[in-house]
Amino acid sequence: MAAIMDGESLAKTLKKDIAARVSELRKKGTVPKLATILVGSRAASKTYVRLKERDCEEVGISTKTYELPEASEREVFDLIGKLNEDKSVHGILVQMPLPPHLSGTNVIDRISPEKDVDGLHPLNVGKLWLGTYDLEKDLLPCTPKGIMKLLDHYKVELAGKHVVIINRSNLVGKPLSKLMLDRHATVTLCHSKTKDLKEHTKKADVIVAAVGCRPDFIITEDQVKAGAVVVDAGISFIEGKACGDIDFEKIKKKAAYVTPCPGGVGPMTRAMLLHNILIAARE
Ligand code: NAP
Repeated sequence: MAAIMDGESLAKTLKKDIAARVSELRKKGTVPKLATILVGSRAASKTYVRLKERDCEEVGISTKTYELPEASEREVFDLIGKLNEDKSVHGILVQMPLPPHLSGTNVIDRISPEKDVDGLHPLNVGKLWLGTYDLEKDLLPCTPKGIMKLLDHYKVELAGKHVVIINRSNLVGKPLSKLMLDRHATVTLCHSKTKDLKEHTKKADVIVAAVGCRPDFIITEDQVKAGAVVVDAGISFIEGKACGDIDFEKIKKKAAYVTPCPGGVGPMTRAMLLHNILIAARE
């Protein structure tokens, strides 16, 4: 039976620590503040923004959300410019995905790298790939950072291990591959064009799945080596219920460690955003 890597409980502990650090900062006269820009009217995006506001509130981080249902690129750039200048704002987050008339890359380029709490600005991405970052002090993407913290907490050793990541996005797969490479893992990145995915996953010591296309895509127990570590970051909704990429019930009988979904990577990602805001507030 696998040990369950409980992201919910670890995130709770981390949030307590973050709340204490926010309180110290407030005593010194700095109120950490997140500004969120929500363009368009996607219901799911609104929900994610509300959750982030609630998380911030819980630890004493102040928030302001700018809802721009029909903003042009110029308007978004102008708002980011203003927030970059505003000394009371420490973190700027642009909720993705953006409507089709806006380019996520161009918008992120405008955010001051010191306020880029999603860790997606080219300067922060560059630091990651050059290896000149510190997990505790630099702005790195929240999901990969949350996965690393979870693996560290459960003392999962990565050196010399073969890691298979099923995702090559800028948000998850690419940054995670670099963080794991820096821990001396041998990393394979898989994606929708990978041939014979099972041939890769079956050999993996560590599998990270982040696809989110249930029921079309699922990692079944026959795709997993006995004793493997399985991290499930995918999110799909089946009949309104959130589920991950893996057949959790069967895989937990075969793997050494596994994350549940919900309750694994999701809460860690959310806690890492709070950690990044704290970093941006330069405590
Ligand atoms: P994305 O950019 O759409 O990435 C999805 C990845 O899955 C792509 O690399 C895609 O390959 C790959 N893929 C799709 N179908 C596949 C298949 N049949 N076989 C193998 N690979 C396949 O999305 P994302 O933003 O990275 O997010 C991915 C998932 O993680 C979503 O479910 C999202 O909700 C979840 N997520 C969760 C958290 C969390 O906090 N738990 C945070 C971020 C994301 P191609 O590159 O070839 O298209």
